[in-house]
Amino acid sequence: TIAMDVKESDIRTKTEEVVKLAKSVADITEAEFIVSGGRGVGAKENFALLEELADVLEGSIGGSRAAIDNAWIDKAYQVGQTGKTVRPKIYIAVGISGAIQHLAGMQDSDFIIAINRDESAPIMQIADIALVGDFKKVVPELIAQIKEAKN
Ligand SMILES: Cc1cc2nc3c(=O)[nH]c(=O)nc-3n(C[C@H](O)[C@H](O)[C@H](O)COP(=O)(O)OP(=O)(O)OC[C@H]3O[C@@H](n4cnc5c(N)ncnc54)[C@H](O)[C@@H]3O)c2cc1C
Repeated sequence: TIAMDVKESDIRTKTEEVVKLAKSVADITEAEFIVSGGRGVGAKENFALLEELADVLEGSIGGSRAAIDNAWIDKAYQVGQTGKTVRPKIYIAVGISGAIQHLAGMQDSDFIIAINRDESAPIMQIADIALVGDFKKVVPELIAQIKEAKN
């Protein structure tokens, strides 16, 4: 045993509390599945639907700069030239047109699913699966199918 003469007042750093970061603020570059939303998502409330899909996949949400500029999601989730470069197993782009600055951050993903009501959007050309339609119809359908497949 070593006797130490340390008074509490000598300690300059003290651990008050260990705070675990919520999944929602985890680094998106680590996520295996990313559900990203763009201007086409239309409103902050609608991101709840994307979060639900990300949750069933145990992945993260993400977004285009338009989603960040509209303050629908935090800048930490921005994918692209001035955001994060991601390479998940599956990247699901919802209501994102596929501007070159966005593609720069996600085009090396293993598998890309694009959901867009405009079949001629650039993202639809680079996607492995292009789902043409309103995300409000397509995303709940995807959630239901994934849940069913899990059971
Ligand atoms: C220097 C510079 C750096 C940039 N850096 C980035 C960056 O890091 N990341 C980034 O993302 N962008 C970046 N941008 C911006 C980029 O050029 C685009 O403006 C942006 O990516 C567009 O975002 P979006 O695809 O969400 O929106 P939009 O281009 O407006 O596309 C919206 C899409 O949603 C579809 N849509 C609409 N309603 C629905 C619906 N109900 N259901 C399904 N689909 C629907 C539309 O058909 C459309 O394709 C940068 C630009 C510059 C100049």
